[in-house]
Amino acid sequence: MSDTTGVERYIAAANETMARRKADWDEMKKARFDTCAVHGLYTMNEALNSNQGSIIEPIYMSTSQTYRDSDEMEAALSYKIPTWCYSRIANPTLYYFENTMALLETYGADIEATCVGTSSGMAAIHTATDAFLSIDPKNPTAPRNFVATCQVYGGTFQQFNARRKEEQGIDCRWVVDSNNMDEWESKIDENTRFVYGEMPSNPGQAFFDLKKVIEIAHSKGVPVIIDNTVGSPALLRPLTLGADIVIQSVTKTLTSSGLGICGAVIARKNIVSNFGSDMMKADFAMYLKAIPNRDNGQNLSPMNAMMSLTDMRTLRSKVDMFSRSTELVAAFLEDHPKIEEVGYLGLKSHRLHTLAKEYLHLVDSEHDAHYGKKINRYGHLLSFNVAGGTAGARKMFDGMQRIWRATDLGRIKSVATIPAISTHSQQGEAGRQMAAIPGNMIRLCVGGEHPDDVIRDLDQALDSIDGKTSFQVPSEFSYGGASDSTMAKPVD
Ligand SMILES: *Cc1c(COP(=O)(O)O)cnc(C)c1O
Repeated sequence: MSDTTGVERYIAAANETMARRKADWDEMKKARFDTCAVHGLYTMNEALNSNQGSIIEPIYMSTSQTYRDSDEMEAALSYKIPTWCYSRIANPTLYYFENTMALLETYGADIEATCVGTSSGMAAIHTATDAFLSIDPKNPTAPRNFVATCQVYGGTFQQFNARRKEEQGIDCRWVVDSNNMDEWESKIDENTRFVYGEMPSNPGQAFFDLKKVIEIAHSKGVPVIIDNTVGSPALLRPLTLGADIVIQSVTKTLTSSGLGICGAVIARKNIVSNFGSDMMKADFAMYLKAIPNRDNGQNLSPMNAMMSLTDMRTLRSKVDMFSRSTELVAAFLEDHPKIEEVGYLGLKSHRLHTLAKEYLHLVDSEHDAHYGKKINRYGHLLSFNVAGGTAGARKMFDGMQRIWRATDLGRIKSVATIPAISTHSQQGEAGRQMAAIPGNMIRLCVGGEHPDDVIRDLDQALDSIDGKTSFQVPSEFSYGGASDSTMAKPVD
């Protein structure tokens, strides 16, 4: 160690670690997507110097870190040296997860970004937007608003509409036609704190010209936040197109195994924003981690971080497989006489197909020995409207034998739901109408089964519309836990 003393000697040592980690990041930026997904920043150096050589990132199931002496503690707790300190703030397993996320969301562009893991996708949305919605100390009485696409995940709609607007009086301005740039333009003003969009949207497959929206927002000094859950970085990387912040419900596409809930906020360094401190704008995700999330506590558990990390390693090939199967399923449904409409961006008949084709590509397909060129993929989520209205849709839904009826998506197992009675029930009829979610819409997420078997199940379920109902309600339910009818409805 050098001849510095006190706190300084720890800072000098930490500088070496930080330089090594920066070099690891730079090195990883030269690697392809799959390599980033498999390794992240967990290098041999990390394994040998900090983790007893373990080839897999260890799960640090520990609340806190001990320090050598008061100098090290002081340096750590004033954030002068890298530290994890206490698992509400940081944790080594989360560090590896967060850096993998940042690498994947910035893949293909020379930009710096950081990530903060959160306990859920909703927590990620809450913390990312909350940072922009506090009272401006320079202008405490200024009205606050934000502009968001109305075709968003049901939970997001509730958070914005019920929590922000109704309970907190913050003006949420819904963009109804997200491809009408005049609508975006007219809703953004000097009190707009951020612009928020989801694409492709869950479940409606809304999709907008992201580059144009970024241009409009940035020309007014407003940051752009994109929920990239459905497409995942295997198909779309908004940060590389100029967006400031990306939200991931890691629970979904990123972790198909379905073992737990997990979220992430990934942000480029030096975001555009009229509002907020210099520290917040310089490194938004680290700001969230170090300040508001420390105080609010929506941190991710190391166990869930590790489960997510493990699942993410094979993201690209899984998204490819799910997308190919979904294309076949969508084509089957489109031709079926009992289906009124299929919402899938991969179908040529979809009104947004041409636009989606510009944006959604399987990452690295041009470097893949099998494909050898840039190819489009459109993901695993589709929706379809069943003939015979709500009753017809429910009968078909009830007739599914292999596809699970669950409010979930992105699973290795195919799952389906009726958004109007599940994910989007709380926003009411008017909210659903605005977002174009009719009662006869079924959302289907195609998993890893052979597509023939998914199609076979859909086919027999469609046949069963004219037949009997297949399930008897059991006299005793088999699940434990709360069954109080006042319990909040799940949304997914
Ligand atoms: C599920 C979902 C969320 C919320 O994520 P959780 O991990 O369930 O909290 C947010 N956005 C989209 C698009 C989702 O599908």
